[in-house]
Amino acid sequence: MTTSPPQVAVIGGGICGLAAAHRLARHGVPVTLLEASDQLGGLGTFFSHRDQWVERFYHCVMPTDDELLGLLDELGMKNSVRWCKTTMGMIVDGRRHRFNSAVDLLRFTPLPFHDRVRFGAVSLLLRRLGRGRDLDTLRTEDWLRGLYGSRVWEELLGPMFGSKFGSSFGDVPALYLWQRLGRERNVATRGYPEGGYKAIIDALRTSIEEAGGTVRTSTPVRSLRSTATGSSLTLADGEVLDVQKVISTVPIPLLRQLADAGLAALLPSLELPYQGVVTGAFFLRRPLTGHYWTPVLRSNTGFDGIVEMSALSGAEAHGGSHLVYVMRYTEHTSRLYRGDDDEISARWTTQLLDLFPELEPGDVEEVRVFKAPFVEPIHPLGYLARRPPVAVAGTGLLLATTAHVYPDVTSWNSSVKLVNSVTRGVLEEIGRHEVAEPVP
Ligand SMILES: Cc1cc2nc3c(=O)[nH]c(=O)nc-3n(C[C@H](O)[C@H](O)[C@H](O)COP(=O)(O)OP(=O)(O)OC[C@H]3O[C@@H](n4cnc5c(N)ncnc54)[C@H](O)[C@@H]3O)c2cc1C
Repeated sequence: MTTSPPQVAVIGGGICGLAAAHRLARHGVPVTLLEASDQLGGLGTFFSHRDQWVERFYHCVMPTDDELLGLLDELGMKNSVRWCKTTMGMIVDGRRHRFNSAVDLLRFTPLPFHDRVRFGAVSLLLRRLGRGRDLDTLRTEDWLRGLYGSRVWEELLGPMFGSKFGSSFGDVPALYLWQRLGRERNVATRGYPEGGYKAIIDALRTSIEEAGGTVRTSTPVRSLRSTATGSSLTLADGEVLDVQKVISTVPIPLLRQLADAGLAALLPSLELPYQGVVTGAFFLRRPLTGHYWTPVLRSNTGFDGIVEMSALSGAEAHGGSHLVYVMRYTEHTSRLYRGDDDEISARWTTQLLDLFPELEPGDVEEVRVFKAPFVEPIHPLGYLARRPPVAVAGTGLLLATTAHVYPDVTSWNSSVKLVNSVTRGVLEEIGRHEVAEPVP
């Protein structure tokens, strides 16, 4: 069965796919978005708790997220973001510390006094120290060990990076950290949209459909090949879509599995490793730390960080419960990732109760475990020059994935920024330049 061709197919209904389809549809391009799962949103997707929608993975907006805020403005949602000053804690060897001010740092006993002073001074200057340097070819470990000293690297910064990037954490380009520091601070204003991320996802779907685009969930693309006139996609039920252009937003390792041999040979040759993540979403009867983010180091826990979402969103966003995520970034092949969800939930509950003795077992109302296999690409040194191009030469295929946002950090903002540039190229090529209509 062959259907009449839409001009552009977008593979994946995460923020990249939704924003791309929104942008194209609003410019009059016939676009079909194909999402494998029965829900849109990708890593920003949601689950139901007490008749309210909650993100599977903690998400927040930063005031510097200009591209995302611009998109929210188009959707009439910019003012729905509730902003709040958030703080950071730190748990080392089972002991809790505040980690926000100079006074907190001077009281931070896991480091000797002179290292605390050095830590504070270097941290203040770090953004400036990186300016004008080629941080893309400098290992994070080499940069930070030199500036902070070996003890701070080995006892604090190394384990913190290791928790995000795994065993190769020291090798990640220092540029990524430098960019991250530009986006985040210990004491930071963060935002959370009213109605959660689902409200944004729903608004994007509505916008695409109102502009004549098509959104299909539970529609995995099974294979993709390049043709003389564009691309041909085979869907799970055998349906074939022939289109002029495809924007693929799925992580490149998954795209390789979809591409036929001819197309696979044209895909970027760099095999980028990815970290996945396992999170436990805890609904508690009481607040936990009061901090948005708390790294957990050397504390006999399987998780190595805590995000107290309710410190930002308020408990009312979760039916009166306090929502706390614990997480561990890990490869999707690891034992933890392949482990049983109920066992992870039971183990992490025990560990959380041990870490917070004031928390009673009865305070834990519900725990949900979620996993995602491809979250953080682990960039090699010199990635700026090795980043895969967006256009796959000689085909109608364009790539807009988390591997393309570097040196920006992986975030909804970076995805929107990327997609704005990719769709601008498509629109120029197709020759449609109407100004985007505001969503009523
Ligand atoms: C724990 C965690 C915390 C985070 N915190 C934040 C935060 O605070 N702020 C922030 O801005 N960002 C945050 N992020 C990052 C952010 O979620 C991602 O950068 C962003 O969602 C990536 O979007 P994407 O569209 O590129 O990919 P994805 O969201 O992964 O979307 C890809 C989509 O493709 C679909 N797909 C895969 N294969 C197929 C196929 N064969 N056919 C059709 N569809 C397919 C998938 O189902 C998925 O929906 C966080 C992520 C995680 C995991």
